[in-house]
Amino acid sequence: MSAERPAVLITGASSGIGATYADRFARRGHPLVLVARDKVRLEALAARLRAEYGVVVDVVPADLTDAAQLATVEARLREDGRIGILINNAGAASKGGFLGADGDALDLLIRLNVTAVTRLAAAVVPRFAAAGQGAIVNIASVLALMPEFPMGNYGATKAYVLSLSQALQNEIGPRGVHVQAVLPGATRTEIWGRSGHDVDQIPGMMAVGDLVDAALVGFDRGETITIPPLPDAGQWEAFEGARHAMRANFGNALPADRYTK
Ligand code: NAP
Repeated sequence: MSAERPAVLITGASSGIGATYADRFARRGHPLVLVARDKVRLEALAARLRAEYGVVVDVVPADLTDAAQLATVEARLREDGRIGILINNAGAASKGGFLGADGDALDLLIRLNVTAVTRLAAAVVPRFAAAGQGAIVNIASVLALMPEFPMGNYGATKAYVLSLSQALQNEIGPRGVHVQAVLPGATRTEIWGRSGHDVDQIPGMMAVGDLVDAALVGFDRGETITIPPLPDAGQWEAFEGARHAMRANFGNALPADRYTK
């Protein structure tokens, strides 16, 4: 039965949101390709999922900030026709604000949260578009909409992921490919400890199972933007409506009166 379902390649599958996606897609009977740096954790998760759900699970250890290792995952996405869903999830957060931030650390975050996400999508888009099917899920963040939050360039990387997802859906959605951006709020995972934050000091922390299950409801509905903690979808629609209303003026050939008087 699992052979009939598309395989799902999940980056950042060794913990948190990615490991939970792996569990949920295995439960649905999908074969999996799990990517992260920690081979031991990936192998342990793969063994559990094979035993529990009887699905085929491949493990691909890779540091996605390393161009050569990223290229191996890109090649897998290009060449493995079984893979029909990409979960672009691997990511990290910044330790603090921009002031005093180290340039190399800012660059490393861009390589993981922006470059890897982009290159992996680019590797698979031509195949999905040609097949007229497939799905790409990009894990962004509500911080894509909260640039005032003091987390260095993290919010900016997630604003990029949101914008890229909308552009991709616009371009390849009509070709039969589903692109979804998921915007989690604060979710209880290792990302907080890894970036020097005390998870217990942050209010309103969502359980990772609740987050992924809600994201999958949005996925099954064919949503382009899924914001699991947002109760009123109309607020997102109003936000998009305001953007589209402005857009009507962006093509004006002359500066607005307020800049000429
Ligand atoms: P997490 O538990 O720290 O998971 C991050 C995953 O990314 C791990 O599997 C990690 O595995 C992998 N990873 C980190 N650096 C990598 C690298 N250089 N190469 C390959 N894999 C790498 O955190 P999470 O919360 O589940 O994060 C998943 C996504 O959700 C991220 O994109 C994050 O920005 C986003 N998000 C999280 C929250 C939240 O509050 N938790 C909120 C909004 C958005 P290895 O260490 O084994 O490589």
